[in-house]
Amino acid sequence: MTQVAFAPDVFTWPSDAPQLVGGRCPSCAAVAFPLPSACSRCGSTDVERHLLPRRGTLYTWTTQDFLPKEPYASGETPDTFRPYGVGLVQLGDEVRVEARLTESDPRLLDFGMEVELAIVPFRTDDDGTEVMTYAFTPVQGPGSE
Ligand SMILES: [Zn+2]
Repeated sequence: MTQVAFAPDVFTWPSDAPQLVGGRCPSCAAVAFPLPSACSRCGSTDVERHLLPRRGTLYTWTTQDFLPKEPYASGETPDTFRPYGVGLVQLGDEVRVEARLTESDPRLLDFGMEVELAIVPFRTDDDGTEVMTYAFTPVQGPGSE
């Protein structure tokens, strides 16, 4: 099966250890995701490509219980839609990133829990190509650091 990323240069992939591609401003050290064309803090246009930590902590989260409006483009219909979690993940002391969560059960999510980047199927195109996106998945068990 063919798999493609939903957008170029948003995450490193294929990889056993994918990372989100952010940007770091050499002038003021602000880190942003996705990679911006200019620094939102100081306006510098010299923002450098900067790979973000793979693991972070769940700062806050919610669950998406209904099909989002266009342009969502997942190919899902109200009949095929399945709820998913959406989290704001703190990556190190660098940046907070909003992303899908692989877990949508509120009982299995907790503020401050450790999560790790995963690349997951987003939709399947008519020709069978799987379009991949990024999500965070809870890190299981003690001593997993
Ligand atoms: Zn800056």
